[in-house]
Amino acid sequence: MTGFVSYSTYSRELALNETFESYVELRRLARDVFAAYRDGRLRQGKIYPITDFKKRDYVTIGGIFEANIGVFYQEKEGRDDAYGSFMSPKLDKHGNRVDVSSTTEYGDGVLIVHKLNVPTILHELEHAYDSFRSGGKFTVSRGAQDFFAEMGKNRIVGRDEIPNIVDKRRKLYYRAPHELSAFFVQAVDGIDFFYDEAETVFRDFRDVHDEFKEKMKGYKYLTPKIQRDLARKLSQYYYRIREGDAEE
Ligand SMILES: [Zn+2]
Repeated sequence: MTGFVSYSTYSRELALNETFESYVELRRLARDVFAAYRDGRLRQGKIYPITDFKKRDYVTIGGIFEANIGVFYQEKEGRDDAYGSFMSPKLDKHGNRVDVSSTTEYGDGVLIVHKLNVPTILHELEHAYDSFRSGGKFTVSRGAQDFFAEMGKNRIVGRDEIPNIVDKRRKLYYRAPHELSAFFVQAVDGIDFFYDEAETVFRDFRDVHDEFKEKMKGYKYLTPKIQRDLARKLSQYYYRIREGDAEE
């Protein structure tokens, strides 16, 4: 499988696993999924194979179209914000992939989006891509899994414990490598790197970085080390975009 990374490589690289090339391609794919929705070609409650949205050639993320990944769109009552989730392939307790191809058509995962917009689709596509290239291993962090399992056991907690639990949960969630990866591309997608409409005057990196800190969800829950890693990654994207590498 091309683009496959091992668990340890992925762990080591943490938030830095995302490459600029895959970001540019995932963003194009997100726009094509959104266009299908905007043009009324996407029905609610139906699962579409991801290949239905392949309108061009993909060099970096191309392998994702060979996986059995579905795209599911369903509006939810009582929620106005755009959000989604990626239903990952099943893993056993050792983190090994369980073959679910006999039980579901989309054994490599289903991307679920409620209220579509490009950044949300991009976030979930990043999960799908990371899941695909790690052989299904990188959609759940083990620490978070253990924590949520423990929390799910009808545990009785005192009221004063709640803030700590909430804080721990947010740290686990926002620091999980796969979420860092997804929230990073989502934040970058919302940043305008130019001062002017003609896209000739490029913004100072410090300004872009300040905006990034506001747009990167859960930024305050990240460790200084992760924040530094993200700044380095952002600067790489910044220079690539300045060189005109992101043009459609
Ligand atoms: Zn996510």
